[in-house]
Amino acid sequence: MIQAKGVAAYSPTQALAPFTFERRDPRDHDVVIDIKFCGICHSDIHQARDEWGGAIFPMVPGHEIVGIVRAIGPKVTKHKAGDRVGIGCIVDSCRHCAHCEQNLEQYCLKGPTVTYNGYERDGKTPTFGGYSNVIVADENYVLRMPASLPLDQAAPLLCAGITLYSPLMHWKAGPGKKVGIMGLGGLGHMGVKIAAALGAHVTVLSHSEKKRDDAMRMGAHQFLVTHNTSVFQEYASTFDLIINTVSAEIKMSDYFGLLKLDGALVVVGIPDKPLAIHPYPLVAMRRSYAGSLIGSIKETQDMLDFCAKHNIASDIELITPEQINQAYDRVGKSDVRYRFVIDMSAL
Ligand code: NAP
Ligand code: ZN
Ligand code: ZN
Repeated sequence: MIQAKGVAAYSPTQALAPFTFERRDPRDHDVVIDIKFCGICHSDIHQARDEWGGAIFPMVPGHEIVGIVRAIGPKVTKHKAGDRVGIGCIVDSCRHCAHCEQNLEQYCLKGPTVTYNGYERDGKTPTFGGYSNVIVADENYVLRMPASLPLDQAAPLLCAGITLYSPLMHWKAGPGKKVGIMGLGGLGHMGVKIAAALGAHVTVLSHSEKKRDDAMRMGAHQFLVTHNTSVFQEYASTFDLIINTVSAEIKMSDYFGLLKLDGALVVVGIPDKPLAIHPYPLVAMRRSYAGSLIGSIKETQDMLDFCAKHNIASDIELITPEQINQAYDRVGKSDVRYRFVIDMSAL
């Protein structure tokens, strides 16, 4: 076994603290990765605090992982020692269901193996994430990190980036399309950059005025503050696509009215409480309300290559492992510009 050290949540209410554990020795198709950086996703906080239920403790969060290949199993062909690589939210799936066979393994009908707070395919070995110094994963779930992207700023692409790229592609954001991004946090700021690079007209819908200048610098064309409820009348029926990245409970029905006929509102934010909706604004203009979960491994690689081509990375605040608890509190207050990334060399 490989000795690993990391930072874990031990219960929903305790501060995260150091943790030592073991990773498996590499199997034929495994890659051993020295983790350099790991982003802090709001999903880490939801799970460490057991806001979604079913948390497995101790939990080593982290699914925006970048590092350097230390060693490979004997049958690995996709990666070699010294390569810059990444791991996102899933590390395995059944590989045989209809969705896995269509490169949609995030929607594996038997459930994907999540990078942490889950179990391996054996159903009993817990998975541990990226707030650690080393990880072992099957080569097919390991991404190539393009050479031009700085590893620390690229880490958030592995979850925040792909979670916005996938619905933007699926709902065909591009020239002539008006796209709204609700919430300018980790996910939202990646959505602005990617949607702008796709050529869409991008509007940020934020709950305060504070992030206006940053949004415009990231490529947004318009910034609307939703506390000012007159925006819902003024911009009624103007958007083709709105993506909701908000981590908290909000009044969704207000936003449906912003969509054009046949427009879609796609939710990616997963608050701990249900989002009540009134169906009338959907019914009235044949609008759709949909959801989207991260993206497939193939799509994640496409997204990384797209980001390299367009010089897109995350705006980050680099922290040490000792600062994780402070960072969690700041994310809870929407006070992050725009993703915390942990420097694992300080472990
Ligand atoms: P984040 O960095 O905390 O950003 C969330 C943003 O939501 C905030 O920056 C804020 O933007 C807005 N917000 C927060 N509280 C609000 C409130 N009370 N009212 C209105 N707006 C509020 O979080 P994140 O890492 O981007 O993650 C966002 C959500 O997506 C989380 O629930 C996470 O679990 C989920 N997620 C889903 C997937 C998926 O595959 N579907 C993947 C990753 C994460 P403004 O200040 O601009 O309003
Ligand atoms: Zn995430
Ligand atoms: Zn499957």
